[in-house]
Amino acid sequence: MLYDSHEAIRDAITSLRNLNALIRERHQAGYVRKERLQEWVVLGRFYFDSCGNCWKYTGGSIPAEVFPDLPKVMRQTEFSAFIKRSSLPSKTSSFTCSIGDDIPPADLFCPECGTHWTVQNCHDTVIEHETRTVDLNKKAGQRLVDVVGRWKMNGYAVWRLQPGKSIRNDIYIDSSNKLGWIEPEGEYFINPGDEALANIWTYRHHKCHRQNQLKREQEYFQKIFTEAGFQEIWLSPIENKYCPCNSCAPWFEVVVNSIHFTIGWRKRVISIQSTDPRIIFDKMFPNEETTKSTHEIHAWGREKCIEYLSAIRKIVK
Ligand SMILES: [Zn+2]
Ligand SMILES: [Zn+2]
Repeated sequence: MLYDSHEAIRDAITSLRNLNALIRERHQAGYVRKERLQEWVVLGRFYFDSCGNCWKYTGGSIPAEVFPDLPKVMRQTEFSAFIKRSSLPSKTSSFTCSIGDDIPPADLFCPECGTHWTVQNCHDTVIEHETRTVDLNKKAGQRLVDVVGRWKMNGYAVWRLQPGKSIRNDIYIDSSNKLGWIEPEGEYFINPGDEALANIWTYRHHKCHRQNQLKREQEYFQKIFTEAGFQEIWLSPIENKYCPCNSCAPWFEVVVNSIHFTIGWRKRVISIQSTDPRIIFDKMFPNEETTKSTHEIHAWGREKCIEYLSAIRKIVK
């Protein structure tokens, strides 16, 4: 079969476009035609299961990294036998994968470093998803499908129109539709003032993602301290004190007006910490209904964070 033999998979890994197509075909075969497929370990990075899914090896030990000479295409049974034969310490011989391959479509590039995605680097991805409202005013008169079709040419991210109610315009507001969202039907032509809801998936290398994240977080907290009225803000990234994994954003040590803070996200709150003897959080904010102690307070979002910091600035001289 064209998607379930050694040869087919060897052919597929000659280009990212072919690999994308193979994964799509296996998914069709498994999910639409309910075929039972062979299981494969591909590039030492991905696992193709019998129902048409592609999984990605994750965590500390990845077959391709533990065994640099691993064949690029192996049946699952061959792979298992190979692992058994290798006299690895038990901790590295168990591999974990998670469903979903995170493989970017061919032709996209990483927005940080500009490198195109290939079969060689397609495992090294961090995907960021956002939903954005896009102004379509300048496209008035054009067919929606054509405009959305051109979104796909955008080089570093996958853009798709939100399914269902994806178009908004004041002209659609009435007593039963207070916000003016509609589901475009048939051959929809864009009206002046239309907005569209787009889902955007951006692919970055791990390293590039971390750099981008650091830059954004640093700007974010810099701005918070600025808006709280501080000048001469010194920020330095440190490990995330809540979750030191390799995807959560860093925390920061901050020095402003000779006050030393530690600050960072903790799930949905911003933890503000200081051991400065002039700052006793629970005494300073007795009426705030949030987690607080001598050296820490949790701010429920950006505005609260600015409010607390600005209060501290006025009290601590
Ligand atoms: Zn990159
Ligand atoms: Zn984490």
